[in-house]
Parts: sequence; structure tokens; C-alpha cells
Amino acid sequence: MRVVSGIQPTGVAHLGNYFGAFANWIELQNAGHECFYFIANQHAITIPQNNEILKKNTLEITAIMLAVGLDPKKSTIFIQSDIPVHTQLSWILSCLSPIGEMERMVQFKEKSKIDPSATNLGLLSYPTLQAADILIYKADLVPVGIDQAQHLELTRLLARKFNNTYKSIFKEPKTLHTKTTKVVGLDGAAKMSKGLNNYIGLVEDEKTIWKKLSVAMTDPARKRKTDPGNPAICNIYILHKLFSSQKDLDWVVDGCTNAKIGCIECKKKLFENIIKLTNPIREKYLKLINNPNDLKDILSIGAKKATIIAQQTMDEVNALVGFKYF
Ligand code: AMP
Repeated sequence: MRVVSGIQPTGVAHLGNYFGAFANWIELQNAGHECFYFIANQHAITIPQNNEILKKNTLEITAIMLAVGLDPKKSTIFIQSDIPVHTQLSWILSCLSPIGEMERMVQFKEKSKIDPSATNLGLLSYPTLQAADILIYKADLVPVGIDQAQHLELTRLLARKFNNTYKSIFKEPKTLHTKTTKVVGLDGAAKMSKGLNNYIGLVEDEKTIWKKLSVAMTDPARKRKTDPGNPAICNIYILHKLFSSQKDLDWVVDGCTNAKIGCIECKKKLFENIIKLTNPIREKYLKLINNPNDLKDILSIGAKKATIIAQQTMDEVNALVGFKYF
């Protein structure tokens, strides 16, 4: 099967990205599927960006993608803006995108609320570009977090609309969620995200991770160690379930509900288990980021491979739309 997915170079990749997306990316790659994974720098500029920081973040996310286990020998890894036909197809799909649907997109509504004066057309049409990113490779599967489900619905709608208007050339791609569709943030209130500053970064050092975890929200009813807690509603227990063995989970449930352990002890155990995942990723990342030319080579080879497939689809689309004159 052909798999397509992307991530924005926003400067932080966190545990939400890992459990919501990367885990599936790696599994699909290792199962032998034909995977295209890209850095969505064109999506990133829907929010104001500094050009130098954007370039730095692009190399950093490339290093993180490799450090978590993506292998350029198995997967095609590239930068979105290196394949200009994504935006070319996006224009054609824009002319099929119902404006009412676009305005109903939850992410558009949330992001435009942050700074209404900065709301721009790109933010509104972002899901159409995302549809182009996917359809240009005629993807079968799109592994993403639940926050992308509505955008994938639009992708399928646009595939149907194009097929009905011109000719049936697009497949309707399936969305693939991981077991963990949404990782909650350290505030326990919303999904883990950079914008809300409630995240643990995949390449953060131990000191930083502990600093964040030690003050993270727990069961609000548990004020003292002697108060019995309720792990089912505790943010820290939800995170434990991603990282900890059954033995550790049983220890938390017994210790918390019977007031035998305090929240700090519980968090220390979680910390030990988190760094078992993040420390090796961080070590690999530091080696990779110190060799930017190797990263650029990987991205350049990826762009060449992606262009071959994307251009074929674009030629087909241009002919069908009536843009091929000679
Ligand atoms: P983004 O960082 O918005 O480019 O997202 C990259 C991928 O990570 C997408 O597939 C998102 O759905 C996924 N993702 C981001 N935040 C979370 C979260 N808190 N829980 C689960 N998946 C997430």
C-alpha cells in the first residue's frame, strides 16, 4: 500500500506526535509499505514564521524523524515545498472546495481564534493543500492523529468531486489512527501541543522533562498523600499507560487509590519510563543534527523520488482539466 503523511516544522516534536503519528509511520515503513513522509513547511507559514528559524526547524524535524526510526532507504523523506506540484494541484482542488466546509474545519476555527487579526486565506485553505499532498501520490493510507480526521474527510470529498467532474483517477484514502489517537497535555485539559505549551519534547533532556513533569496536573481531588486518588481521571496515569509495564500500572493503581504513594513518587516512575524512550532518540538526534549536509542529501534524494510520482499525477490532472494545449 502507498502511505503518505506529514509533520510541520514548528520547532517541537512531542510525545503526542510520537504516539499519534510516528509510531504508525515506523510500523508501516517496517511492514514494507511504500511510504512518503514529508515536512509540511508550506502548512507552517499559515502562522507567521521567521525564515531562518523555519529553515533550522526543518532540519531539526528531519533529524527527529530519522532518530525515531524512519529510514531513508525504506521511506521517501522530503520537504513539501521541494515538490511544487503539491500547490499546483491544490489550486485545482481549491476550485472544488466548498467554502462553507472550509469554514467549519475545527482546526481553522481554533487557530483563527488565537489571533483573529492574523487569520489569512492560507489558514482557511490549508486542508485543501493537505488534500493535494495526499492525492498527488494516490495514497491508500494516511496515518495521522484524530485531530486530522476532519481534514481527511475533506480529502475524500475532493477526490470524489474531482473524479465526478473529470475522470475517476483518485482513490479515496483511508485514515489510519494509532491506538493512542490523542495524547493529553501536561495540563490534563487539552491535547498535547506546542501552542499550548503543555508538552514533553521528544529530544528534551532529562532535567527539562522532570521540570515539566514535576509540576504537571494530577487528580485535583488529591491534595495530600493521605487523600486516596482516582487514576482513571488522572492525567499522569493516562501517560503511564503509554509508557509503563503492567507491573508499574498495578503499582500506581494500588498506591494511588489506597493512598500508599504520593503524586511525586508516581511521577518519578513515569519519568524513568519516559526517558527510556526519549534518551536514545535524543542521542541519535544529536549525532544527526551535527551533520546537516547528510540531512540535506537525504532530503534531496527524497525530493527526486517524490517528484517522479507527483509529476505523473499532475500531468494526468492537467490533461483532464484542459490545461494541456500542445
Ligand atoms: P503537527 O505537529 O500538527 O504537524 O502534527 C503531526 C502529527 O502528529 C499529526 O498526525 C497529528 O495528528 C499528530 N498529533 C499532534 N498532536 C497530537 C496529540 N496530542 N495526540 C495525538 N496525535 C497528535
